[in-house]
Amino acid sequence: MVSRVLIANRGEIALRILRACRTLGVEAVVAYSEADRESLAVMLADEAICIGPSDARRSYLSAPAVISAAMVTGCDAIHPGYGFLSEDDAFADAVRAHGLTFIGPSAHVLEKFASKAEVRRLLAEHGLPTVPGSGLLLDDEHALAEAERIGYPVLVKPSAGGGGKGMRMVRSARELSAVLPICRSEAKAAFGDDSIYMEKWLEENRHVEIQVAVDKFGHGVHLWERDCSIQRRHQKILEESPSPAMTPAGRAELADRAIRSVVAAGYENVGTLEFLVDNDGNAYFIEINCRIQVEHPVTEMLTGIDLVATQIRIAAGEPLGFTQADIPQRGHAIEFRINAEDPAHDFRPGAGTIERFNAPGGPGVRFDSHAYVGYDVPPYYDSLLGKLIVWGPTREAAIARGKAALGELVVEGVTTNIAIHKALLVSEPFLEGRFTTNLMDRIGSAAFLAASERVS
Ligand code: ADP
Repeated sequence: MVSRVLIANRGEIALRILRACRTLGVEAVVAYSEADRESLAVMLADEAICIGPSDARRSYLSAPAVISAAMVTGCDAIHPGYGFLSEDDAFADAVRAHGLTFIGPSAHVLEKFASKAEVRRLLAEHGLPTVPGSGLLLDDEHALAEAERIGYPVLVKPSAGGGGKGMRMVRSARELSAVLPICRSEAKAAFGDDSIYMEKWLEENRHVEIQVAVDKFGHGVHLWERDCSIQRRHQKILEESPSPAMTPAGRAELADRAIRSVVAAGYENVGTLEFLVDNDGNAYFIEINCRIQVEHPVTEMLTGIDLVATQIRIAAGEPLGFTQADIPQRGHAIEFRINAEDPAHDFRPGAGTIERFNAPGGPGVRFDSHAYVGYDVPPYYDSLLGKLIVWGPTREAAIARGKAALGELVVEGVTTNIAIHKALLVSEPFLEGRFTTNLMDRIGSAAFLAASERVS
């Protein structure tokens, strides 16, 4: 096992990793930027070390700063969390070269699964259906020919992409010619890589993902699905499991195919395979995330398995320690992402000091957050303030708990999106489980909020 972990991340996930370390009896050192000096993870850590200024490029994204911090503080492993350096194969390789354990897939696995366009091909070879689409687009002529073959509308996507950024839907050849240079330069600016590919645009779809865990001995399990169809501009805001859109047979088949294909393709550690599911229940693979995801607690509530501890144990070379038969999908869980952003002003990210704060509690309620009274929300990073996760024996019971818990949640001093979640829990499409990824964008958040005021 590893004995001392450097947590190279911030916010709620730094706290989550710290908690996993504590349950494993492993020491935790938190690496922080100057902007995060007063963070809860820093306060609760065994030790903390500043790795640079607020600009993430010179702190959380700086491999030399992170690795030297691990060496100086006597750590033998680094947990990158999500975002930042979590899927960077060069970083994972440098960590290994310094005699440290990277908590995640090995560098060669990260490299193999880095290009979204390539992974589509790889997993299709191992039996996964993918959205009709192209490989990497070589030039404009190639792009136009591929779009013609696939059929408009198509979605142009950055191959190194993530977080719903830089994707563009186009309806015609003329539009495609116009956006190709923009797509490439946006991809370059956001991800340092201008390679792009395209997929058939599926107008009505649900986002369903399968959580997997594979140890270094090739033993793999799936931990069922999460439905992440409640999105705003392709970014998830609420996740739940089981998916209200899947039948028991459909989910078992998809989960089984997912785990078989990634084990066959040589995947390792914890990961997530994302799919789009059309109105007829057909699932198409879109991408794999080679890291812990924001929404992992949904799965933890249903299975009782600590996914972050599992990541650490797998990276340390331990066998999984459980089999597929040990993994229940018990009851129903919903996660609400609580963001510091203003729904009334186009979800403008907010910063400021938290003046009043109350975290919800009680049976079946989990609140993962780094917020506290007096905390200054810095303007430099993403707007996630915390995650409220509720569990109930049925979807209806989980929704009832969600309503009660959101009612208890108080955050004052910074504007949050709590009202959006309250509105969702009284909206008909959500209550009936009949929604696709475009629900929020189609209705518009202003209309959504107004409708909920009429109901409540
Ligand atoms: P990212 O890695 O940037 O998050 P994804 O490929 O995971 O991008 O897609 C994010 C979201 O974008 C999906 O959940 C879905 O809402 C939408 N999306 C992705 N691919 C398609 C597609 N081919 N057709 C329609 N919507 C799509």
